[in-house]
Amino acid sequence: MNKPIYVTQPFLPPLDEFIPYLEKIWDNKILTNGGPFHQQLEEALCSYLGVKHISLFTNGTIALVTALQALRVTGEVITTPYSFVATAHSLLWNGIKPVFVDVDPESLNIDPTKIEAAITPYTTAIMPVHCYGRPCDVDAIQRIADNYNLRVIYDAAHAFGVNGPKGSVLNNGDLSVLSFHATKVFNTFEGGAIVCPDAKTKLRIDQLKNFGFVDELTVVAPGINGKMSEINAAFGMLQLKHITHALDRRKEIDGAYREQLKDIKGIRCLGESGETEANHSYFPILVEDDYPLSRDELYDKLKTRGVFARRYFYPLITDFPMYRGLPSAHRDNLPTANNAAQKVMCLPIYPTLTSENISKVVDCIREGLQA
Ligand SMILES: *Cc1c(COP(=O)(O)O)cnc(C)c1O
Repeated sequence: MNKPIYVTQPFLPPLDEFIPYLEKIWDNKILTNGGPFHQQLEEALCSYLGVKHISLFTNGTIALVTALQALRVTGEVITTPYSFVATAHSLLWNGIKPVFVDVDPESLNIDPTKIEAAITPYTTAIMPVHCYGRPCDVDAIQRIADNYNLRVIYDAAHAFGVNGPKGSVLNNGDLSVLSFHATKVFNTFEGGAIVCPDAKTKLRIDQLKNFGFVDELTVVAPGINGKMSEINAAFGMLQLKHITHALDRRKEIDGAYREQLKDIKGIRCLGESGETEANHSYFPILVEDDYPLSRDELYDKLKTRGVFARRYFYPLITDFPMYRGLPSAHRDNLPTANNAAQKVMCLPIYPTLTSENISKVVDCIREGLQA
């Protein structure tokens, strides 16, 4: 009864279902370099997600680094401080200067109305994040990118399976990058992918993730080793069989939280952000000033009861030492992101979370009202 409840628990299908996949790998002895499972998973994901081309990667971070290289992005890139640190790290790994722009108070995604003021002669691209899987204002971002001739690379690590009015959100911008890390909605233990609109770009990306080889004897770029192995790709094929169940269960949990939290004063759940199909990858709440405890007090209280929520995204990327000296990292430039980072907390959400677990989390939050 008192087992700890973590913010997430990786989804794993029954082990015996994975054995036949392993037997195939042991039979054909193809372990990596674009083997049969790698090919199958790329095709299966294109069709499941409703996108044209996918290149699988060893993880999302290497995919972000490679996406920037594929489009030869240089100079300055406009991005959000309210994300996982890998978003900005991918820029530093390319020698690019991040320029941070504040987020919108409702969506907590980059605020398009603040982007233009951050553009300089060195700006070449925008890297927005569909934070918590809730879509950015993709039309406004694209309008700015078109006006200033900028590339758009979406960090879509949270946005697996998310659709907007025009279909998959992954079809926006020049490229979108997914993560299949253990903690994400769809996981291959470690893994990631770049979604791209045309075969030529996919070919370039496929070369870059394989040292820059175009054939046995020819290397055309200082590529990296970013390939997904057959074992991860095979596991992805199995995960896809269970994804609908996993997403359905997340939706139920999201609904249960909203219902049970709606009358708790000072606790705010985020609304929708234009998605027609959500993935409920996270369940963020904002602990507002009229709740008796601070966010950190509530976080500690939950912890003493065995509920391990997470303060995503606190600290902001701009508070880490390699970013905080940048002019755009200054707190005065990012009031909304700083405010959200002080108030947000992600509650446990994962397919095997029970209704008893949910009630326990909500009871703890309700008890805080008596503080
Ligand atoms: C998880 C995540 C990444 C990194 O993905 P990995 O597969 O862990 O390398 C990048 N950006 C965001 C927003 C993430 O949440």
